[in-house]
Amino acid sequence: MIDEAWGLNTIRPGHAYSICNSLQCRQCHHLFLDIRFSSRELASLYRDYRGEEYTHLRDHYEPGYRARNAQLNDGINYRSDVEAWLLAHAGAPSSVLDWGGDTGINTPFTETCAHVDVFDISHKAVIPGVRRVSREQIASNTYDLVTCCSVIEHVPYPHTTLLDIRKTMRGKGKLYLEVPFEDIMHGSPTDAIIRKRHWHEHINFFSEASLLRLVEYCGFNLIASDKIQVTVAGKTASAFQLLLDAAP
Ligand SMILES: [Zn+2]
Repeated sequence: MIDEAWGLNTIRPGHAYSICNSLQCRQCHHLFLDIRFSSRELASLYRDYRGEEYTHLRDHYEPGYRARNAQLNDGINYRSDVEAWLLAHAGAPSSVLDWGGDTGINTPFTETCAHVDVFDISHKAVIPGVRRVSREQIASNTYDLVTCCSVIEHVPYPHTTLLDIRKTMRGKGKLYLEVPFEDIMHGSPTDAIIRKRHWHEHINFFSEASLLRLVEYCGFNLIASDKIQVTVAGKTASAFQLLLDAAP
């Protein structure tokens, strides 16, 4: 039963909460839960993600979500920082694929790169200048830069997504991976499992060690890494940035 000690914003004390278990790796401190969506469930949750039907339903359970969603739809305010970081470490790309890039609103280099594609299971309309592509179209292209931002914290099996991406790169180009560095994982993450009580949207909480272990497992080579302070819909948070290549 939820009480004040949970410190939640929109779920009131006295409410019950669907049962799940938090799990944490003792070696790398990766924190996750035992509910893993099937691909059908994932497709259902993220089809027209944050569209009208989704927003209406979520605002019912989370009063105020509609206003937050409007801020999210305006896009992130740190894209120029990401572009500057990528320019410094990888140079200007001549083609970009944003894997899980929604409408392309947050995709780097849309203003300076002539060829920007988005692959996303939401099937939303993309912004002008960006092309939505299918898996088949991806297979017939090579990209200088693949970006995958704020995606793998949502998916049931992050390694499957990263191996999928690696396959499409065919040993060429670079991958920019951006993943939230959740507040609860700061400092010593060993007891994050005790502090973590409510799971919502993000089903994987990465430590630096778990993220590095994951990309290594998927066969990527680390070129550069950093942490970035971001403001998303009025909230300050931090994120891991990794630049990788998939050279054999
Ligand atoms: Zn681990």
